[in-house]
Amino acid sequence: MPIYKAPLEDMRFVLHELYDSKTIAELPGCEDFTPELMDSVLEEAAKFTQEVLFPLNQVGDLEGCTYENGVVRTPTGFKEAYKGFCEGGWTAMGSSPEFGGQGMPVAPAMLVEEMLCSSNVAFGLYPGLTHGAYLSIYHHGSEEQKQTYLPNMVSGKWSGTMCLTEAHCGTDLGMLRTKAVPNADGSYSITGAKIFISAGEHDLTENIIHLVLARLPDAPSGVKGISLFVVPKFMVKDDGSLGQRNGVQCTSIEHKMGIKGSATCSLAFEDAKGWMIGEPNKGMRAMFTMMNTERLSVGIQGLGVAEVAYQNAANYARERIQGRSLTGVKNPGKPADPIIVHPDVRRMLLTMRAYIEGCRALSGWVAREIDILQRSTSEDAKLISDDFTALLTPVVKAFFTDLGFEITSSALQCYGGHGYVRDHGMEQYVRDARISMIYEGANGVQALDLVGRKLPQDGGRLLTRFLDPVLEFIDANGDAEMAPFIEPLQTALEHLQIATGYIMEAGMSNHDEIGAASVDYLRLFGLVALGFMWARMAKIALPKAAGSEFYTAKIGTAKFYMQRLLPQTGALLSAIQSGSETMMEFAAEAF
Ligand SMILES: Cc1cc2nc3c(=O)[nH]c(=O)nc-3n(C[C@H](O)[C@H](O)[C@H](O)COP(=O)(O)OP(=O)(O)OC[C@H]3O[C@@H](n4cnc5c(N)ncnc54)[C@H](O)[C@@H]3O)c2cc1C
Repeated sequence: MPIYKAPLEDMRFVLHELYDSKTIAELPGCEDFTPELMDSVLEEAAKFTQEVLFPLNQVGDLEGCTYENGVVRTPTGFKEAYKGFCEGGWTAMGSSPEFGGQGMPVAPAMLVEEMLCSSNVAFGLYPGLTHGAYLSIYHHGSEEQKQTYLPNMVSGKWSGTMCLTEAHCGTDLGMLRTKAVPNADGSYSITGAKIFISAGEHDLTENIIHLVLARLPDAPSGVKGISLFVVPKFMVKDDGSLGQRNGVQCTSIEHKMGIKGSATCSLAFEDAKGWMIGEPNKGMRAMFTMMNTERLSVGIQGLGVAEVAYQNAANYARERIQGRSLTGVKNPGKPADPIIVHPDVRRMLLTMRAYIEGCRALSGWVAREIDILQRSTSEDAKLISDDFTALLTPVVKAFFTDLGFEITSSALQCYGGHGYVRDHGMEQYVRDARISMIYEGANGVQALDLVGRKLPQDGGRLLTRFLDPVLEFIDANGDAEMAPFIEPLQTALEHLQIATGYIMEAGMSNHDEIGAASVDYLRLFGLVALGFMWARMAKIALPKAAGSEFYTAKIGTAKFYMQRLLPQTGALLSAIQSGSETMMEFAAEAF
């Protein structure tokens, strides 16, 4: 049986020491969220995820969801766990008090989300999508729509979905065909078929609020002709009670590689009654509110699943005895040494750990900027945070999820054949982690967003929001003690700057240069960002290391990251500078 213990010590380190949680509590509306309260929220979340959600993770995988005549049932225990989740107030965590939410800042909420993903990522999708749908209605819906839907979505009584994908269009939503025909009463009749809709039908909530992208009869072609509609499964009467069933049916669920406890549904809309959210043909804008939140959440899925896989691998490596240490017997009383003595096993474990803690630190930075963006009274501070979040969203989504898959695979490797078979639960983590590289925009498309849109945006201003603090930190830390961290960071940062200049120049005359470089560039960016995180963490840990296992390990992991992982930036730069020729000259028939 796998184990999971929420990494509270590291989470507290990120929240309080790296980002000084007191400054978050000073933001308007966050006054109640003192560092002490944030700690108790984390402790309660740890208890719930460890004791309630984690034991259902394997059950969910083994049973999956079932479909019968349009009805979808979630795996054994999910209903009760969901009830407990709502009663504990977890669905209301990040929502506005105006609609019954707790108004919790994102900084602690994102750590709770990580625990959710570590303990049971398939379960986490249900409330996760609801919160995304809540945000779209909250930011773009009419007052009436907010009053009709939000209180019950915040309490968890109703859930939400995001209905974009159709069989012929996933990445390229401009091709979508679902129609919305206006009715005399101001509503619309929605007709079309959506596929792959997470939580599209299930037995956890009384109602499901679908957010559906569709086209008006006179809409321009492409993404400029898409509008967003709210389509409830059950109509909501004026007094708030549920009325008749709307024209939306689940026609099947997918049989898939992982996240089997999450129902992935085909939905048929036949003259379903819907109401427009926001303006006609501006649906992508409203949907992006949901998609950007979901992209960060999907990045956290990569991190969360990686964390639980790492914990198990480290545990197993201490116990499994196999072979002898290359430098002499370490376990004379036993016929073999534990595999943790082998350098390659240590390489795998430290690689996982350095990436995981680096990603947690980076997600803390993003969370803090979102809090500033949402609550600061300073327009200048908000602009910086807005730029920074926009720049980092594709990095968190793609880099974290690429690493999530790599880490779960390495964790399985630590188990040898015992990881490949079902008993230890490790193969589930690999399968569960894989989807996060695909949904919410495939990782290759995230890389295009970073390089093709975010880098050139506003004359390159977004990138400076990242580069400036890194350069400032390097300038301020020229002492000998920090040199082992600053020097590799400086080299990697130069690689990033050269790569940026190369792509911007080469991309002007040949757009394939942008596409050819983008995935390598995003990884290079992610590595530098984690390099900065590790240098900052080392700086905090150095004066506290004597006699402390935690801070000593931080410094050791920082050194490993700087010496063994960050140098990948050199190879990535070289690949980027080789240009697009080798891939684009290859004839399509030759593949
Ligand atoms: C389990 C699961 C749950 C999902 N949940 C939802 C949901 O709740 N709501 C929803 O609307 N959708 C959902 N999806 C759909 C998901 O978002 C899409 O599968 C995804 O966006 C990719 O679309 P596609 O599968 O049509 O692949 P395609 O668009 O056909 O792309 C195939 C591959 O081609 C590449 N590619 C495509 N276009 C480009 C490009 N412009 N540049 C570079 N490379 C490119 C990418 O590598 C991509 O992986 C879910 C899917 C799954 C499997």
